[in-house]
Amino acid sequence: MSTTRTHKITLIPGDGIGPEVTAAMVQVVEAAGQQTGCGFDWHSFECGADAYAKNGEILPKAALDSIEQNRVAIKGPTATPIGGGFSSMNVALRKKFDLFANFRPVKSLPGIKTNYPGIDLIIFRENTEDLYAGLEVMINPDIAQSMKIITRKGSTRIAKSAFEYAKKHGRKKVHSIHKANIMKLSDGLFIKCTKEVSEGYPEVAYAEHIVDNACMQLVMNPYQYDVILTENLYGDILSDLCSGLVGGLGLVPGANIGAECAIFEAVHGSAPDIAGQDKANPTALIQSAVLMLDHLDEGETAKKLQAAIEKVYADGKTLTRDVGGAAGTKAFGDAVIAAL
Ligand code: ATP
Repeated sequence: MSTTRTHKITLIPGDGIGPEVTAAMVQVVEAAGQQTGCGFDWHSFECGADAYAKNGEILPKAALDSIEQNRVAIKGPTATPIGGGFSSMNVALRKKFDLFANFRPVKSLPGIKTNYPGIDLIIFRENTEDLYAGLEVMINPDIAQSMKIITRKGSTRIAKSAFEYAKKHGRKKVHSIHKANIMKLSDGLFIKCTKEVSEGYPEVAYAEHIVDNACMQLVMNPYQYDVILTENLYGDILSDLCSGLVGGLGLVPGANIGAECAIFEAVHGSAPDIAGQDKANPTALIQSAVLMLDHLDEGETAKKLQAAIEKVYADGKTLTRDVGGAAGTKAFGDAVIAAL
């Protein structure tokens, strides 16, 4: 089909396995778009630890300007060395564009053997506050202090996003996850706000779970969860836990949404242990692209691409190593294109 609509998208391949999974994602998205008449103008930028080593910049201004203009970006993982002097690019992007909602759908794929078939839950993680506010000081050489920031505005808007989503998509229940028994003021404010918001959505049930209990409940009976609404740090940890429920980090997509723009990325990190070996699973980033297509109102392209991914999984012949197969990153991408 000839191209009738072209979307400008900022592309950040990132570090480690980033360039490999990004290349596979771009190929399959192009192939899906060709079937529905939509095209893509990718504006690619080197950002992250490798870019820093090469050019002395983690996040060049040109990349920021491009995101500001295009309002949609998709990125591979970027590495953040542990320790001083190098702040997380993801945290910087979320702050700069006020991408307050981190949205992570966790859904089982056909043919993947896990202890929990048929998982279908959504995580809404507040993306700009909490211990990620980056307010750290050394009180003296032996005492470090990190400040946890929770605000009424931040808690209320992420709660509204979760409840709006639940209402729109017929989700039955929102669980607010917290540790207000210990952090009575900060987490206390968070659940006060989430409860207040819940009162405006009588059609959606509301419950609160303490985060340690939620971890146990998620491995005992994850089916009780539908929409998980939580703060930044708990959301980071629960996302990896939930990835494990459906087969690992190679599978779960994510979106960072703000009022002005959206950045799509996989839940996983740069996986330096398997980088450059054609071993990474690109599914998480490809499924992030499915979320991006939906965001761009390309619902038909999104559906076709998701169906092709599921076909490859149901078929089970061209899967990557992390999910029990032997295929490489590129071969998996090719199989998705063939399935399209
Ligand atoms: P970060 O701190 O950046 O989130 P991390 O150290 O928590 O990163 P990852 O880089 O996500 O972790 O890697 C954790 C493990 O999962 C590694 O063993 C890695 O090889 C594996 N992994 C992550 N992503 C993928 C993928 N797409 N395909 C296959 N294996 C992956």
